[in-house]
Amino acid sequence: MNTIAANLQGVKSRIERSAGAAGRDPRDIVLVAVTKTFGPEAIRDAHAAGQRDFGESYAQEALEKMQALADLPIVWHFIGPVQSNKTRPIAESFDWVHAIDRLKIAERLSAQRPAGRPPLQVCIEVNVSGEASKAGVAPEAAPALAAMVVRLPNLRLRGLMTIPEPTPDTALQRRRFEQLRALRDALNRDGCGLDTLSMGMSDDFETAIAAGATMVRVGTAIFGPRPRR
Ligand SMILES: *Cc1c(COP(=O)(O)O)cnc(C)c1O
Repeated sequence: MNTIAANLQGVKSRIERSAGAAGRDPRDIVLVAVTKTFGPEAIRDAHAAGQRDFGESYAQEALEKMQALADLPIVWHFIGPVQSNKTRPIAESFDWVHAIDRLKIAERLSAQRPAGRPPLQVCIEVNVSGEASKAGVAPEAAPALAAMVVRLPNLRLRGLMTIPEPTPDTALQRRRFEQLRALRDALNRDGCGLDTLSMGMSDDFETAIAAGATMVRVGTAIFGPRPRR
């Protein structure tokens, strides 16, 4: 087994253990393997080991890899911030977009989604930590944005995503993830029908699963440390 396959196996076992500890079915948790800065060969190795969902953060870099991997059936997730001049290639090539935080971006993605492709699956990014520098809408602003995004014809709002501030305090971490889950539950009481909580990365995915994550985005724990960009 190569390193990527072995790491992938290790992450999957940890997902199973934390799901089990939380009384959850591990099949309800999708592992998105985050491959930003890694080349197509890393994706091929992970794919050969059974991985199907991959996350990328930079549009141009992702498009180059998609071309090199066009022979593989991959579910592509755009997990980075979406700039308005990049919405077209993202709408054309990705299956999921995790970090919608402005109506204008959502409108462009919907308008630019090619006819004949299924709707783009999207999440709204919420800034649960309240850090001024962070992307994402404030929790109070999420319901209004969700109400507008659900009306866009070529998007399907699936849920919420967050990246809490890094902290060694797992209790605080857990409260942040639980805040996102509570917000999702509140939106569902208003009829949003959201089934996705995209939360948890290499350092905190087990805590996120305990708090209800349905998608974890894991890079370093599978592919190793990233080179500085
Ligand atoms: C890079 C990235 C990840 C993966 O982070 P790791 O710590 O390497 O697991 C997850 N989510 C987003 C939005 C990212 O940009």
